[in-house]
Amino acid sequence: MKRKDLFREGFKSVFQFTFTKADEISEAIKEVWQEETDPKPQRNTKPKKETLPKGSNPTPSRKNPKPTVVRRRKTRMFQTLSLPPGASSEFFSLCTGCNECIFACPYAVLFPVTAENQNQSFPHFDPNAKACHLCTDWPCISACPEEALVPYEMSETTPKFGKAKLLKEFCINEKTGEPTCNACFVTCPIEKTVKFKGNLPVFSQSSCTGCGLCVETCPSFPKAIQIKLIKN
Ligand code: SF4
Ligand code: SF4
Ligand code: SF4
Repeated sequence: MKRKDLFREGFKSVFQFTFTKADEISEAIKEVWQEETDPKPQRNTKPKKETLPKGSNPTPSRKNPKPTVVRRRKTRMFQTLSLPPGASSEFFSLCTGCNECIFACPYAVLFPVTAENQNQSFPHFDPNAKACHLCTDWPCISACPEEALVPYEMSETTPKFGKAKLLKEFCINEKTGEPTCNACFVTCPIEKTVKFKGNLPVFSQSSCTGCGLCVETCPSFPKAIQIKLIKN
């Protein structure tokens, strides 16, 4: 077996293992959740009086004709994730979850995320955790067999994942009061996107792709740059 194929097979088996474990964990959580929300009556014990959430109005009266329903908002996970470069407008109906783009990314930027109420995963990435390197040959797009990731027509076209935003208080230059650091300026692959105004970097909102390379390189802790994602 070729070295490339060996690596590919290894990668696939790791993801397969992750999927299996993720499914098992997800099933376990569902069971616990079911038990918590729908407790079974215990033998030889009187059924407990139902305790309603604070603020609920159980009995309708003239004053309050309708009972108040206190809804629990579901935590929406993965709100901070972006789709891969070139994601088509029909991405979710075209992507089969084959993970070929994930295997093709040389920087291991993409990872599968299982969609809510669906038995399928879709590739995503988190530019605030691991940046997309905007590879000139777009290996992720080339690997997609379903046209869910569409090649960019012009070489100048860049993806738009989001926009970089400076968190001024964490910037080293703000802390030192001197132009100590310019890592974001040096790293940004898009010309004239990072400029300096005094000691602080300013990010062009029109040309910034939201790739996250500046976030990755920012030496400050906490990071002084955050990518605000555009909605997919
Ligand atoms: S452009 Fe390059 S770094 Fe970005 S997701 Fe595609 S293969 Fe990975
Ligand atoms: S400013 Fe940051 S996020 Fe925007 S294009 Fe440059 S490196 Fe990427
Ligand atoms: S890389 Fe971070 S610390 Fe350095 S100038 Fe840019 S925002 Fe400030």
